[in-house]
Amino acid sequence: MVTKKETPSGKEKKKDEVPAAGDSAQPKKETKKTAPKKTSGTKKSKKASKSDAGLSIGIDVKPPEGTCTDKDCPFHGTLPVRGQILEGYVVSDKMQGTAVIKRDYMRKIQKYERLEKRSNKYLVHNPSCLGVVTGDNVKIMECRPLSKMVSFVIIEKM
Ligand SMILES: [Zn+2]
Repeated sequence: MVTKKETPSGKEKKKDEVPAAGDSAQPKKETKKTAPKKTSGTKKSKKASKSDAGLSIGIDVKPPEGTCTDKDCPFHGTLPVRGQILEGYVVSDKMQGTAVIKRDYMRKIQKYERLEKRSNKYLVHNPSCLGVVTGDNVKIMECRPLSKMVSFVIIEKM
């Protein structure tokens, strides 16, 4: 009986050691808490860099030299752009705030191993700040539908 009592006491000593290990673990938790603070600091710096960009629409294009009061201008208005980016040339700029863009491309015909010329015409929104006229090469980007036929906007004059 006496020997059995001694063994539990030995276990108790081991239990005392375990909390000591827990104390050593607590400082590690504190270090973990400080680590997220560092990441939050980097996030703040990223936000600051975005605010510095100012006119940027999130795409690598040169911003227009002029300004406009068009609410559907991606640079000076509130029109978000997303989706496809295409290149083409202006066929007509006669409409108010809208231009006709033609895009030529080649498509391979598998059976004859030849290329076929194809083209599309797009009605696109034409913000006045870009100063786009007939014959210009332009880059257009998809946006929300502005009318029945218009769901692209000119973002760069090349
Ligand atoms: Zn503009």
